[in-house]
Amino acid sequence: MRVSRLMLVTLRDDPAEAEIASHKLLLRAGYMRRLAPGIFAYLPLLWRVLQKVSAIVREEMAAVDALETLLPQLQPADLWRRSGRWDGYTAGEGIMFHLVDRQERSLGLGPTHEEVVTELAADLLRSYRQLPVCLYQIQTKFRDEIRPRFGLMRGREFIMKDAYSFHADEACLQRTYAAMDRAYRRIFERCGLRAVAVEADSGAIGGSASQEFMVTAEAGEDLILASPDGRYAANQERAVSLPAASVPLEAGPCRSLATPGQSSIEDLCTAHGFDPTQTLKVLLLLARFAAAPPRGVLVCLRGDQQLNDVKLANAVTARCSDAGALLEIVPLQAEHLATDLSGDAGSVPFGFLGPHLEDPPLRNGDARAVAVPLLRLVDASAAELETFVCGANRIDAHLVGARWGELCPLPEVVDLRAAQPGERCLHDPSQRLEAARGIEVGHIFQLGRKYSEALEARFTNEAGSDEALWMGCYGIGVSRLAQAAVEQHHDADGIRWPVAIAPYTVIIVIASSQDAVQVALAEQLYGRLLRAGIDVLLDDRPERAGVKFKDADLIGIPWRLVVGRAAGDGKVELVDRSGGTGKRELTADAALEELVQSLGLQVASP
Ligand code: ATP
Ligand code: MG
Repeated sequence: MRVSRLMLVTLRDDPAEAEIASHKLLLRAGYMRRLAPGIFAYLPLLWRVLQKVSAIVREEMAAVDALETLLPQLQPADLWRRSGRWDGYTAGEGIMFHLVDRQERSLGLGPTHEEVVTELAADLLRSYRQLPVCLYQIQTKFRDEIRPRFGLMRGREFIMKDAYSFHADEACLQRTYAAMDRAYRRIFERCGLRAVAVEADSGAIGGSASQEFMVTAEAGEDLILASPDGRYAANQERAVSLPAASVPLEAGPCRSLATPGQSSIEDLCTAHGFDPTQTLKVLLLLARFAAAPPRGVLVCLRGDQQLNDVKLANAVTARCSDAGALLEIVPLQAEHLATDLSGDAGSVPFGFLGPHLEDPPLRNGDARAVAVPLLRLVDASAAELETFVCGANRIDAHLVGARWGELCPLPEVVDLRAAQPGERCLHDPSQRLEAARGIEVGHIFQLGRKYSEALEARFTNEAGSDEALWMGCYGIGVSRLAQAAVEQHHDADGIRWPVAIAPYTVIIVIASSQDAVQVALAEQLYGRLLRAGIDVLLDDRPERAGVKFKDADLIGIPWRLVVGRAAGDGKVELVDRSGGTGKRELTADAALEELVQSLGLQVASP
């Protein structure tokens, strides 16, 4: 391709809309343009990158016998109602774009395809003899993200590879899951990415085991916690660890302590010399659901610990399965008492809460107050305390030396704390968690039978009886991956694409397009590289050499051949954009030979 025909528009300065390096570079180097928040046009250079990534994905999917398909993006609400996800995906913070058609039927724009593919499986798969099967597609997904940002990293319209597998039993699902794990590692490696696999939360998709693949980069939105011995790595949303030991509280019976204005753990500890590990942090929250009135949730953590919102949401969802989708969990505030709970704000002594708080009456739909029991949960770190300091449920008072069982029964123990860097690992307490930031580029799940049971996707097993299909699902953010590659591979001058996914492999720059000798040699090299099957650009623009060099660095083509003054002697300059071999002057033939060899191809004769 000739750069003069490429519609290449590069920008000298960083666009105001971009915050992170990869986003700035893709805009500056003419790879994409933003149409609206989270909505981008993929320009021809980027489209080539996406096609190369997709080609690698297709090869590796074929290697695990996955079949390519293309499923509808417009999806009927009824299907999503049957799986129980319509409300959660459309109300509250739901991310599904949805609309009503001219027949007054509700539809959603596919954020993911479990429902559609399970419906197909219900129709097509009848016998264990047809199993296992795996379908995948590479397609635009739509998600009305709350905070679209960082360009392709969190778009509202983006390209995903999603695969879905169906099995007669769990062991078969586990084998495909393991094969996908290996395929994903090969995909990321072939794309030139440093990616790590981490234990992940299964989120709204549901299911049991799940693993994310993270491209490590400072700009990543996810926090990874990993042990130095390489045996444990998890997304912080899911990570577990051993908290620091607590400092025992002096012995003695439970007593009341005046704590005027000391409503925070910090103030309490400073005023009375307690260690935060001796205190109980009692949080009162309100969970809202699609199909039930809100419910108060009382969470106890050890005073030095932080709540993990994802773990809490999972715990609440699991215990309120009749309430429909969980829409949000917010701190319960005085104003909720008037709206969601009955009347008296004074009845809840915020800042001085103890685990023995009585159930506040909740306002029923018709404004009658009914006492709905608080959902009471305690993190293991707090459950293990023999005695502790906690709020007295009276303003300006705490209890010292309180005990579970005496003060109130021990609530249900659930892991709710956020693991932190520096904490000891469960598998080996001599190992301490280290933190790194990551960009999630892939996620694989063992879904089990959640969708097949809800949508009645059943088959006849070998014994002749009818049962629900076992399912797995496997996603890769193709457009996010392309930008993650830039985040990992760039320098001050621009992008440094890994060869496998670079839009073009070589760029020939004619230093002076006025010089007939240079033009002739460049054209000859261009033809030979094309014939060798190499993706080559010829910068034939009537620009100054410096401008063309800057653009070549910015767009990040792995190899640059400069045809300049030495063209008369048949010599060119070969530049390795990755910096590996630097700049070298070689004869045109030698340069070509080296290029095609490094790319594992055959040299073409002039
Ligand atoms: P995240 O936690 O980043 O929101 P997710 O858990 O919602 O992602 P999945 O539903 O697992 O994502 O989707 C599969 C893959 O699609 C992700 O691993 C990610 O690479 C990509 N992806 C998800 N959301 C977006 C988005 N808004 N923009 C670009 N890529 C995305
Ligand atoms: Mg995910």
